[in-house]
Amino acid sequence: MNNRVHQGHFARKRFGQNFLNDSYIIDSIVAAIHPQRGEAMVEIGPGLGALTEPVGERLDALTVIELDRDLAARLQTHPFLGPKLTIFQQDAMTFDFAQLAAERGQPLRVFGNLPYNISTPLMFHLFSYTSAIKDMHFMLQKEVVNRLVAGPDSKAYGRLSVMAQYYCQVIPVLEVPPESFTPAPKVDSAVVRLVPHAVQPHPVENVRVLSRITTEAFGKRRKTLRNSLGHLFSAEVMENLGVDGSLRAENVTVAQYCQLANWLSAHPESQES
Ligand code: SAM
Repeated sequence: MNNRVHQGHFARKRFGQNFLNDSYIIDSIVAAIHPQRGEAMVEIGPGLGALTEPVGERLDALTVIELDRDLAARLQTHPFLGPKLTIFQQDAMTFDFAQLAAERGQPLRVFGNLPYNISTPLMFHLFSYTSAIKDMHFMLQKEVVNRLVAGPDSKAYGRLSVMAQYYCQVIPVLEVPPESFTPAPKVDSAVVRLVPHAVQPHPVENVRVLSRITTEAFGKRRKTLRNSLGHLFSAEVMENLGVDGSLRAENVTVAQYCQLANWLSAHPESQES
């Protein structure tokens, strides 16, 4: 059998379609999500319904966002799920999660086996809505999960780790081998739980400043901070903030990046250079 065909659907590479086929893994993911009646559950990329069906069984209503028109149409006519679903046939990258949370009258619980080709930008899109989100459970490339959870002084620690941990508590849930999908992806996968902080551990004045600093620091990750961020912070300022300029981007904690961001927000003249 052509392994790109699953349940009569030809998997589209451009939509990152790798369908879950392993009932043990599916059960484990649904148990981790633990959907409850009355919650505002939202699935990104329901595909052929591998997660949608068992989650939908436990609920009266479920919202799904699916870009592939054929798959969205299939779900619409699904015998038991169809009537429970609100289907948005659109790109999750441009979806307004705050508006949906307002309509549902509660923060959203978002989950999905994400298309890997857009998983990082999609997560950044979701981070901008964390005040409208209760939690998120995502299947991702294992390497991306490693980056999300990584702490300082490790190779995997980067801009994604800092930004994810600024917004959320990040908890790895389980690892998933390629054979659990049809077609099998070339990489290992893992499920992660992201819980937006109810109270920010390291509040920043302006998250765009944090985003800029991490982009510049990790853009030159082999350089010392003195080199990569010297145009924004003098040696004296770094020292006063307790950040050693001879360190590299990967040695700086989330708390320290937030401190640097707050100093820069308070000194906008230093951002001009
Ligand atoms: N949930 C199904 C499963 O676990 O078997 C399918 C997962 S598959 C990895 C990713 C799904 O996301 C596909 O159904 C694909 O069509 C859909 N998709 C791809 N890009 C999307 C986007 N930008 N917005 C919404 N859905 C998208």
